Amino acid sequence: MTNVDQFSCRWCGQSFAPRLNGGTEKLHCRVQCRHEHREGRVAIAEALEQSGKISIKDEHVALSEKRERQARHSKHANRAG
Ligand SMILES: [Zn+2]
Repeated sequence: MTNVDQFSCRWCGQSFAPRLNGGTEKLHCRVQCRHEHREGRVAIAEALEQSGKISIKDEHVALSEKRERQARHSKHANRAG
């Protein structure tokens, strides 16, 4: 038996075989799922912000932490363009 790397789409749960032809890891079965996942994250952040559960400051912190992670990651991947 060969070990087939089947991944589950983070968004819709569908299993797929990721093609690792670049530096980016694939978490979604298709581009649409990636976009919808991102939209969903924005939507919940908006809802939390409107209900007062998080503040703009929390979003600043989250964004700067995300950028730090990306900077660390891109230093490793070193993509052209
Ligand atoms: Zn999907």
